[in-house]
Amino acid sequence: MFGATGSIGQNTIDLIRRAPDDYNVVALTGAGNIAQLISDAKALRADIAVTADPARLAELRDGLAGTGIEAAAGEAALIEAAARPADWIMSAIVGAAGLAPGLEALKHGTTLALANKESLVTAGPLLMREAKRLGATVLPVDSEHSAVFQGLIGEDIAAVERIIITASGGAFRDHPLSALDTVSLAEASSHPNWDMGQRITIDSASMFNKAMELIETKEFFGVRANQIETIIHPESLIHALVGFNDGALMAHVGPPDMRHAIGFALHWPARKHLPVARLDLAAIGQLNFRAPEHARYPALAIAATVMQAGGLSGAVFNAAKEQALDYFIEGRCGFTDMARAVERVLDLMLSREGLENATITLDNVQAADAMARALTCEDLDKKRA
Ligand code: NAD
Ligand code: MG
Repeated sequence: MFGATGSIGQNTIDLIRRAPDDYNVVALTGAGNIAQLISDAKALRADIAVTADPARLAELRDGLAGTGIEAAAGEAALIEAAARPADWIMSAIVGAAGLAPGLEALKHGTTLALANKESLVTAGPLLMREAKRLGATVLPVDSEHSAVFQGLIGEDIAAVERIIITASGGAFRDHPLSALDTVSLAEASSHPNWDMGQRITIDSASMFNKAMELIETKEFFGVRANQIETIIHPESLIHALVGFNDGALMAHVGPPDMRHAIGFALHWPARKHLPVARLDLAAIGQLNFRAPEHARYPALAIAATVMQAGGLSGAVFNAAKEQALDYFIEGRCGFTDMARAVERVLDLMLSREGLENATITLDNVQAADAMARALTCEDLDKKRA
């Protein structure tokens, strides 16, 4: 389980701890929260615990002393853990760092439960091609993509006209547009419906999260950009809809609880009982929808550019977005500066030859990622100067 100490990781562990005898946990990984990693590795009797941060190895090793559980640290150790024989891996590291362990797991035929959306955004064609070549299964864990996947069971993708991804609209869906420049980190870090990691919560407020999900949809399901739509649905109860060529729309409805999508991927192709709330539709009364305002959510236009350009543009977009988000979290740029910087860096790198047509390899993705991060820092530093 990669990113075990995060929000998705902890929800996955919650499900596993309800039936510990059904699972043999091979590896748990984390980064900074060593106490959590130690306690979960002990509780689940993992073979190995890995922290991404080499400076924390001694602490991890001390905490696991006498348990027989191995301790390791650093990127190479993460890859080594992903190479260990296993039936199923949860890919729930946040950010581009999640790509390499996922690709490694595929090489060994492990079923990849993919919460790490950055894998599909930065290297969707590579990941899906490798899965096909190696005969490994990839299961979407993002709630919207799990919903679409479930809507397609028994269906022919050729009969799909459109896929509609719903969006809550995030923390600022009703905030005055003119005041978006000055929103605080605390305001951006609170989601109206979902309890998630801080980074994805801020990405929901800016709709960078939805932008990533549109790209994810294109890459995972192999549909065209013009078949994918997004709609604001403030209740977050319908996660996605699939529209077929006979006019039918199949909606996936459920509570905003990631344990549904995680549990679906954990038990697939079976369905098993999951501890999520059952919806009382009469109490809910009504569901609302509205079109997204493009001035509020510039990230949606950026997603359209990326889907149109293809190639390494997703890697550039994601890295610029991650870097701008770091700046926002560190108080070094404002909320609306993020989208402006991402747009400028993407335009700049797209104007250079070859980005669209470049072959997507892990090395190329990492090189484009590094360049995009450097240009984003330059852009945002210039603005402050
Ligand atoms: P989180 O911040 O709560 O947890 C992230 C995990 O990744 C932690 O275990 C952390 O230690 C680890 N990590 C961070 N940086 C790392 C690095 N450089 N190398 C290795 N490990 C690192 O994040 P989250 O909300 O659980 O999200 C995880 C992934 O799932 C993200 O890609 C996110 O977009 C996606 N996702 C999350 C949700 C959700 O409900 N939280 C829903 C859909 C998709
Ligand atoms: Mg989602």
